[in-house]
Amino acid sequence: MEFNRPIWVEVDLTKLRNNFKKIKKIVGNCKIIGVVKADAYGHGAKEVTKVLEKEGIFGVAVASLEEALNLRESKVKIPILTLGYIYPKTLEIAAKNDISVTMFDKKFLKRLKEYNGKKTLNIQINIDTGMGRLGLFPSEVVDSVEEIKKLKNIRITGIYTHFATADSDLSYAKEQLNLFRTILDLLKKEKFLPDSIHAANSAGVLNLKESYFNTVRPGILLYGLSPFNDKEVEFEPVMSFKARTIFTRTMPEGKGISYGKTFITKKESLLATIPVGYADGLLRGLSNKGEVLIKGKRAKIIGNITMDLTMIDVTNFPYIHPGNEVVIIGKQGNEEITASEIAKKTGTINYEIVTRIGKRVKRIYKT
Ligand SMILES: *Cc1c(COP(=O)(O)O)cnc(C)c1O
Repeated sequence: MEFNRPIWVEVDLTKLRNNFKKIKKIVGNCKIIGVVKADAYGHGAKEVTKVLEKEGIFGVAVASLEEALNLRESKVKIPILTLGYIYPKTLEIAAKNDISVTMFDKKFLKRLKEYNGKKTLNIQINIDTGMGRLGLFPSEVVDSVEEIKKLKNIRITGIYTHFATADSDLSYAKEQLNLFRTILDLLKKEKFLPDSIHAANSAGVLNLKESYFNTVRPGILLYGLSPFNDKEVEFEPVMSFKARTIFTRTMPEGKGISYGKTFITKKESLLATIPVGYADGLLRGLSNKGEVLIKGKRAKIIGNITMDLTMIDVTNFPYIHPGNEVVIIGKQGNEEITASEIAKKTGTINYEIVTRIGKRVKRIYKT
């Protein structure tokens, strides 16, 4: 029995597998850490990780310990790395569950010195070579490593940096890379290099072969989406976002549609209401601007998008009635609406479009 509304996300796991294989082919012998933060960019971290694990991925990365623990609860066995903040009191839980955490500032050294859990805590060091977000200053790295080496139950399993512009400004990315290399050389002199060395996000995987080291860290490409603002990639989107019309009717000319009456029918029109609103991730910025697919054709969103419902104009469409399938993201017939198209219309990036799809939209997995 269905108690929600006719609205769902389809996640095509075969396409996910194909995208993973494609990345593998590009990076050759490098280990791949798949980025599955934010519920795998809205695709479902548990299901996505299970598939990638089966395909032999080296490990995955998430934003928080909560995301990591959810994966362990789902019996994920491969290495998991948290990229973000960890509450000091939870370090023992991380170690107990074999979750590697990121050291991204010098203050963390104090936490590590205080750590007295029974299990060895695995850490990876993030160096800020130019992203300006998280990470040790390059000048802090060698000293920190020397200190950590003295600690019995802490092991450094990886060292990484993150690009700010691998999708847009390659010369800046190369500067970051050079800085990263300088530090790696220093560590090599100290006879210390951890198992995993990585820098490449999806844009790095496609644009910067010299950034591979022995591990890469792609996210968006796994989901078949482009890391570039102005260029598509030859990967297939894994996600489609669909709904069914729940109400159709003929509206006379001159009637206001939705909050604020921002749309007035110019003639007698056939309208359909779909059970998708901004709380589901159909950005309100698409009001009177966005389109959806129905009967294999583009239909315009009219009036303001509301929290749970949106109206579309289906005048001149054949046989529209409640129950017709509507595609918000994805293909229908020969037409396709991509997350990138929506992103452009709303002044954002495809990453935001897929991660904003609401929790109450069920995900359906095609194996
Ligand atoms: C999100 C993230 C990635 C993945 O980036 P994509 O552009 O999706 O490939 C890699 N590394 C870090 C540190 C991240 O935060």
